Amino acid sequence: MNIAIIAHDAKKELMTQFCIAYCGILSRHKLFATGTTGKLVGDATGLEINCFLSGLQGGDQQIGALITCNEIDMLLFFNDPLNPKANEPNAYNLLRLCDVHNVPVATNIATAEALIHSLERGDLDWRDIVNPKK
Ligand code: PGA
Repeated sequence: MNIAIIAHDAKKELMTQFCIAYCGILSRHKLFATGTTGKLVGDATGLEINCFLSGLQGGDQQIGALITCNEIDMLLFFNDPLNPKANEPNAYNLLRLCDVHNVPVATNIATAEALIHSLERGDLDWRDIVNPKK
């Protein structure tokens, strides 16, 4: 599965801890991330992550483009609702694209844990059948 990871600044440490905790599961999948999130998580976990531009430079839109091509099977997007950022509209658009393309998405750690366990159980294998990757 292709998993995209994004964390707003106040949630980057939480995302890093999450990825350390679930490193074993994540290592069996292909990972994508916005620039800063990907660098931090990659350095902390040793996971191989395909990093795009930073969110502010359009990395979130690069991930959005992959979602529209059905190249992303799950989005883990740790959102900081208390400190809106300059690229806030992009965040809304990413969630919209997930809804359009039926991509499972978590905006907080509680849902991310539920999704990662679903992934491990094989509950999301239907995505590979519906959207076989090249
Ligand atoms: P970043 O982007 O990982 O490059 O910081 C995420 C964001 O939009 O905050």
